[in-house]
Amino acid sequence: MAQAIEFRHVSKRFDHGGLAVDDLSFRVEAGSTMALVGPSGCGKTTSLKMINRLVEPTSGEISVGGRSITSMGLLELRRSLGYVIQYVGLFPHMTVAENIGVVPQLLGWPKAKIAARTDELLDLVGLAPKDYRGRRPRALSGGQQQRVGVARALAADPPVLLMDEPFGALDPITRDRLQDELIQIQRKLRKTIVIVTHDMDEAVRLADRIAVLRAGKLIQLGTPAEVLAKPADDFVADLLGRDR
Ligand code: ADP
Repeated sequence: MAQAIEFRHVSKRFDHGGLAVDDLSFRVEAGSTMALVGPSGCGKTTSLKMINRLVEPTSGEISVGGRSITSMGLLELRRSLGYVIQYVGLFPHMTVAENIGVVPQLLGWPKAKIAARTDELLDLVGLAPKDYRGRRPRALSGGQQQRVGVARALAADPPVLLMDEPFGALDPITRDRLQDELIQIQRKLRKTIVIVTHDMDEAVRLADRIAVLRAGKLIQLGTPAEVLAKPADDFVADLLGRDR
């Protein structure tokens, strides 16, 4: 079951800094994709990391599936969240299958179930299981590593997927292809996805709704069609790469 995510008046001030995130409120409906968009330093990654509690808010509240994340155990919370980052951080000494199996193994799944799940996920991300399960990350291209990163995040079937510039390090052709595949995967799985990107085109393509941030503040929230038709101000129009 997918789960909604809600931010209520969430702010974050790091030591010796201004507000990295400034009174952010929004809701991501269960089974939908929200893109957090804006230039470098606007608070996207901080917002995402507050969902899995790699960063704690200074004030405000975040809930997942209707429950405040501070009321859950950290393990319970992280089990419900798959996390994909720009440089996937696959364990280099482990095979593809071992990388994908990390979380299921922690959860104590039987070996046969992990193996079946690994093959199912490799198929899902477009890597033939028999060719890829035994490879090490260094024998994969950047795009293939990113596919394994997505498979790993999905391994224990979490209701929520958090993605931080997942395709940022890839060449444009590979990026396009992986964006298409994410759209296909999302049609099948209907996860609640929060994706951080500085690329408005990517947001328009992937998201049901877009939250535009500037200096930690929410500037505009709407569907891609709404944002394209009526950018809130010149800043948003600039991100869209055109005049108002
Ligand atoms: P984005 O993901 O949009 O590039 P970030 O969320 O990474 O932005 O950063 C937002 C602001 O918070 C920036 O000014 C950044 O320098 C600051 N910041 C992020 N992480 C830390 C940290 N651990 N300590 C201090 N300041 C931080």
